[in-house]
Amino acid sequence: MKRSKNSRLYVPTPKLRVRATRKLRATEEDESFISDNISGHDNTDNIPEYNDTEYISNFRGNTGEAESSSEMTNEEFKQQLPEYNMDINDNYQPSSDIDTTDTTEEILMKNIDDSHRSLLDIVEEDEEDDSMNNSDVLEEESSNFEGFDSEYGPYFPNFTSTMIFIWITKHMISTSAYEDLAKILTHPEYRKEDITKNIRQIRKWRDRLPLVKVRKHDVPLSMQRTPSTYASTKKAFTISPLTHLERILKNPLIMPKMYFGPGIVANEKREFWHGELWQDSLLFGESKIRTTNEEFYKAGEFLIFREQSSTFMCRVRSVVNDEMDNNTLKLKVDMLLKHEKLPNCRPNDNRHTRGNNMELWLVEGEAKLVNPSNVVQRIIVWLCDMPEPDEYDFYIKEIVYSFDSRWKYRDIASRHRLPYENITIMQSRQNLPILKVFLDIYVDDFGTYRNVYHSLGGVYLQIGNMPSTLRKQLKNHFLIGFVPFGANFNDFIKPIVQDIKSLENGRVMQTLYGDAWVIGGIGCVTADLPQGNDLAAVKRHGANHGCRTCNVSNDQYTDPNYNYIKNARFQQQTNERIAEIESQHLRMDQDRLATKYGLIKPGPLNDLKWDQHLQTPQDAYHSMAGKARTLLEATFNIFNTNGENDFLEYWKRIEKPSHWSRMPNPLRHRQSFMFSDVLRLAMLMPFILQRFLESHHIKTDALNNWHKNSGIRRNLVASKLCACWAIEAKALKLAFSITMTENTYQELQETLKKEREMLIQIFPDTFTNLPNLHVNMHLLQHARNFATLVNTAVGVKEMVHRIFKTMVPHMNRKEIELDLTRRYNTIQALRHFIDGWTDPRFNTRPNALPKLIADPNIYTILTAWYATENFNTINSQEFEDKQDDDNITICCHNSNFIDISLNSRWSAKKVNDRGLSKKLDYKHPFFQDISVSYREHFNSKEAILNRKLEFYNSISYTVLKDGQDPIRLKIHIGDIVELPEESEGIAYAKVKSIFRHQANNGQYYAFFFFDWFQATNIMDSVLECPFYNIQKPEESRWFQIFPITFIDRNPCVFFIHNCGNTCNTEHDEGNRSYILNRYYYNAV
Ligand SMILES: [Zn+2]
Ligand SMILES: [Zn+2]
Repeated sequence: MKRSKNSRLYVPTPKLRVRATRKLRATEEDESFISDNISGHDNTDNIPEYNDTEYISNFRGNTGEAESSSEMTNEEFKQQLPEYNMDINDNYQPSSDIDTTDTTEEILMKNIDDSHRSLLDIVEEDEEDDSMNNSDVLEEESSNFEGFDSEYGPYFPNFTSTMIFIWITKHMISTSAYEDLAKILTHPEYRKEDITKNIRQIRKWRDRLPLVKVRKHDVPLSMQRTPSTYASTKKAFTISPLTHLERILKNPLIMPKMYFGPGIVANEKREFWHGELWQDSLLFGESKIRTTNEEFYKAGEFLIFREQSSTFMCRVRSVVNDEMDNNTLKLKVDMLLKHEKLPNCRPNDNRHTRGNNMELWLVEGEAKLVNPSNVVQRIIVWLCDMPEPDEYDFYIKEIVYSFDSRWKYRDIASRHRLPYENITIMQSRQNLPILKVFLDIYVDDFGTYRNVYHSLGGVYLQIGNMPSTLRKQLKNHFLIGFVPFGANFNDFIKPIVQDIKSLENGRVMQTLYGDAWVIGGIGCVTADLPQGNDLAAVKRHGANHGCRTCNVSNDQYTDPNYNYIKNARFQQQTNERIAEIESQHLRMDQDRLATKYGLIKPGPLNDLKWDQHLQTPQDAYHSMAGKARTLLEATFNIFNTNGENDFLEYWKRIEKPSHWSRMPNPLRHRQSFMFSDVLRLAMLMPFILQRFLESHHIKTDALNNWHKNSGIRRNLVASKLCACWAIEAKALKLAFSITMTENTYQELQETLKKEREMLIQIFPDTFTNLPNLHVNMHLLQHARNFATLVNTAVGVKEMVHRIFKTMVPHMNRKEIELDLTRRYNTIQALRHFIDGWTDPRFNTRPNALPKLIADPNIYTILTAWYATENFNTINSQEFEDKQDDDNITICCHNSNFIDISLNSRWSAKKVNDRGLSKKLDYKHPFFQDISVSYREHFNSKEAILNRKLEFYNSISYTVLKDGQDPIRLKIHIGDIVELPEESEGIAYAKVKSIFRHQANNGQYYAFFFFDWFQATNIMDSVLECPFYNIQKPEESRWFQIFPITFIDRNPCVFFIHNCGNTCNTEHDEGNRSYILNRYYYNAV
């Protein structure tokens, strides 16, 4: 951030247009401007404290609708709670940090419930304020209203309103259901004569939809888990991945955005095809290349190539597209070294002499890109873990690799074999274009934790060929099926494994662009921690050797010297071990070997062409958030009463982004703290601790222990804890980066290392041998394999599963899996229609369904439900507060900004209290800026006629962008926004006012008033975050009023006041220093 006051002043910035002359303003008006600064959005002081039941019902949904039928979910929650408590009380022993709690459920319930709340609840809520004053009467009849003059007395204006009120009350119609109905009834195309009175008739229309084939097969039930009255088998229902693929490849919204091609080497890595796995696998990427002289090179070949004046030997891994060099196709190679080039090898080492110049060394983890035109010739090299060929020029017995920044050697047998060694690709006979498909399968199976009747296990499919913007959308998580309660995942998945095998062999499929030869396979399989080990056929964390990526024993989980690279689990080694176990005649010997290797009997996934250790990455979401929760617990445990009280005070008081939902009290209710709460609290922790923590807040024995064991002096403990939380917050933010570069990878690796050292130094009893901390060692490799950690983190995937779980109470209890699958089938059929998919049965008939999404009157009916919603729309629904009720339509000069609503209008008193005026005369501080804004953005040069302003707490609107789902925004006073500034990149501003004005054309427009932040180039040394100064009220060199088009995405930046002695319960507005919270991001 190099921006300074001066650059603001003198460098022209066309977007924001720096004002060159000072504007005259009356001083008293300027001063009054400061007022709403902090108090405006620091609304956390009055959060009521929840007791446990309140909190539970709060996120379980307190609607009448849910209460009447939600025993199952509540019961389920209670069943899970004891386990959760046990986790906490056990102080996170290695075997118990497995997380079984519902992590994203809470976000979801809040969102879903808000939109599904019964209108009655809202009405009652609105009246709550009045009844509060009236101490012992909840409500009573009132004659204090202006009645209607209608045949329905003063109560209702007419027949329609009367009946709708009765209907809403009788059936407990939710707000969103009513609003949707209102939109249909008021739509110009609505005809009352088209209404079908018989709902059974309407339900039958489902049968006409292009439903996909749902198959059934019998699965055995395990008797311990089901009541004994059950049959011994049950029907499982599955939708084939091939069926989904057929629809997806013909979906005109998805197919054009999908990528099928060689792996790409990019600076900013975001997509699966930027990762090593895609690049190297024939199933997804490219394995051969033809040069200009008709020569073919392919993966697995050994070559000599020339670079400048020297020659090198190498092995080809794959063919990739080098985005940083003009999208040239290149060979991605591993270098082969002769003995004289070996690193870390003394002159007297026998490696120099033993091979008679026939021995080479394979360098691992340092792949290079070479231009195929520089190849000199092929060579034959024998990798000594393979059968010896008849003739060869060189052989390789050892690998050279770097561990902890040092070069080391290991046997060639301990290598990760490349996909070309196990996979051959079948060509199509008709010479069709080839599409290679990356399957990403997610399993949410509570496994042994599914001890609750009718808890739901789900299996979902994502297609890695979609860009991340599509993949993160809930609707692009495709249902494979629900594992029936009491059944085993391995039995459930069998038909799906057959489908995937047939895809591995290739098949002809129709696409939007004609027939294609489609090949594909498993890209990755993800699950929560314990189940992920099952999929890799590795014993769970509690067992010795319970890591699915390496052979570590459980007493070395956090040993920094443990060589997880040399001791990785290699596929060929696991296969040999499995064969060894299976060849034992005695059960006892089998068990003994299984324990020795930490392996379990492999499931049907083992028949697929994949590497079960590389392609079942450890879930960053659970491991990172789990670790943060452990640290939270450890931190709270060292506070004395004084520390706890002060922590709570400062936690309540600290600024929080306005779109965050309320968090439960972290000290008293940490058992009910969800992962999303943990991630958010972790963003604030360094700042909270820095504001208050001193050594007198910490238990004496903790202080003594640190001094005795680690030599940390009393007076340094507080800043050490701050620094520890700053590292933790940084690690979390890096791990959840949506794009990663080579620098991010390095920074992540360094931060994870620092994190491990810090946690073990400060809380050795808690973190030593913690499996979640062991996962740190593997995260970098997972990130490289799949481009980012977010790509394989299960946060959003879990959310999809929760959506189905919330439907369970509304289902016929006997056949939940069937009912949910049928409902999903209907939703997906509609979804493909809305996307513009053509039903091959009626491809010549017109179909207006795709047009509905573009209809501004009803598009909202099609959003915010599973089939069409995207992540942004749910997030922004978190709280729609009271809308302006005067029915004025706000418009925007840009037609892509629609559905604008201003919320919570300020009373005249509030406007005055904030030192503003609703009367826009030429003396008004906004006058000149508004005039300029009309001139610049609306092209209106006339003088302002209308002289009235109305102020609001927040504004919501929808931004339509080409080819993207609409983004719903909600901007609140006090939010901090990023604005592009041409000369400086990004500038930060705080939303100070939101107001509307009627333009000369009679239309109403909405505007923002910003206060700008100025960089100081000074950093906080402990927090490693930069300081900024917010502009002074009298500094009016910059434009401060802008139309809403200046904010077209939800804000993702956050500042915290740099409090000094002058701040107490209210922040001192005179202190204009703020800290940019660099650890802030939008957590799932
Ligand atoms: Zn490991
Ligand atoms: Zn302050």
